[in-house]
Amino acid sequence: MSLPAFILIPDDVLEIARMLEGAGFEAWCVGGAIRDTLLGEPNSDFDIATSATPDQVKGLFKHTVPVGEAFGTIAVRTQRRYHEVTTFRLDLSTDGRRAVVAFGVSLEEDLARRDFTINSLAYHPLTHEWRDPFNGRNDLELRVVRAVGDPTLRFREDYLRILRALRFSARFEFAIEPQTWAAAVLATDGLPTLSAERVREEWFKSLRTARSVARLVKLWQDSGVAARWLPELMVQTDEQGRGLSAAMLAGLDARRGVPLARDPILLTALLCREPVIVLGRLKSSRAEIARAAAVVTGPAEPAGLTPLDVRRWLAAVGDAADDLSMIWQLRHGISPAWVPVVRGVRERGEPLNRKALALTGDDLVAAGMPPGPALGSILDQLLALVVDDPELNSREILLARAERLA
Ligand code: ATP
Ligand code: MG
Repeated sequence: MSLPAFILIPDDVLEIARMLEGAGFEAWCVGGAIRDTLLGEPNSDFDIATSATPDQVKGLFKHTVPVGEAFGTIAVRTQRRYHEVTTFRLDLSTDGRRAVVAFGVSLEEDLARRDFTINSLAYHPLTHEWRDPFNGRNDLELRVVRAVGDPTLRFREDYLRILRALRFSARFEFAIEPQTWAAAVLATDGLPTLSAERVREEWFKSLRTARSVARLVKLWQDSGVAARWLPELMVQTDEQGRGLSAAMLAGLDARRGVPLARDPILLTALLCREPVIVLGRLKSSRAEIARAAAVVTGPAEPAGLTPLDVRRWLAAVGDAADDLSMIWQLRHGISPAWVPVVRGVRERGEPLNRKALALTGDDLVAAGMPPGPALGSILDQLLALVVDDPELNSREILLARAERLA
């Protein structure tokens, strides 16, 4: 592809560049936004690479946050948002997880430490010059992910690059250049040294952005990444109907713009056996693990389509209802027939949990019942009653019932 003479840079990015250049430093736009702009994809994350040191960047701008100062990255706040400004750097030594970096190097050296050719183009926002020493433009045209330099060394410097290669390949439906692929596969033996947090962030980001989830899953399996970090990832539907089918995968890809359909917790629960174990390994939050657990526990669908069936199901699954509906939809390709019934129950505000009961435990104590576990059991029975018949959800009726239950 020929590089455009000019690309549109947001005003606040131009402002940062003028400030840096005005103080005698270089400022170049680099990274994902440049790549995505050339591909015609939206991306407003215009990272700025500069010859200014982190201290100099902090001195020049009023509002900064040292988001990754040891690696040269300072976030600069403009009226609109933060932009990351990173000092040209060289990775001196790397242990496969993190680098020791040196500043005071040229743009060319900085581009050489970047992972893939498609991520190593630089555009000057004021002079409109291009720097593309690794011919990233050609790989954008060929639609390939290719390591900058010797792929074996590059993956051994930072094993996360293996996952990043798979992510970009699935996101843009780019091939992975054969030597880059072979080196990535060989380097998977180093993957266990990565931190669970970095792997989780890559996995989640990959699920959200993949144009093709099918491709992503296949790449994780074929490369050996899944064997190291996600052996529970399934390609085919198993005898319990879990896992993936071709139709489901196509449905996922068609729903790329639907946030819940690309929710990483939901997708992990859908694509993996034992999602609770998987998310535990990836050090997901307690809330995320609980969400996956609720999806596993189910029941996956209501027993029938009457409001009574649907209320009982909603009361049983709680917050997992929308996740379960989405999973059903992804499995079957159509929206479940109970969705409008759920909407009706919610619109009518029918009681589904203890909080919605017209009376509280305190009311029962005030009515003379002893506090303790027996009270909880009475509340549960009252809840079952009003779930079955919302008309009964009044204080008087429930108090009378409670007295009979006590
Ligand atoms: P995204 O659209 O996902 O943000 P990106 O390419 O901008 O994609 P970032 O993680 O934001 O990815 O990183 C910005 C740039 O920094 C990349 O384009 C690449 O040049 C470089 N980079 C990021 N992570 C690495 C890495 N692990 N190894 C080498 N270079 C990297
Ligand atoms: Mg980025």
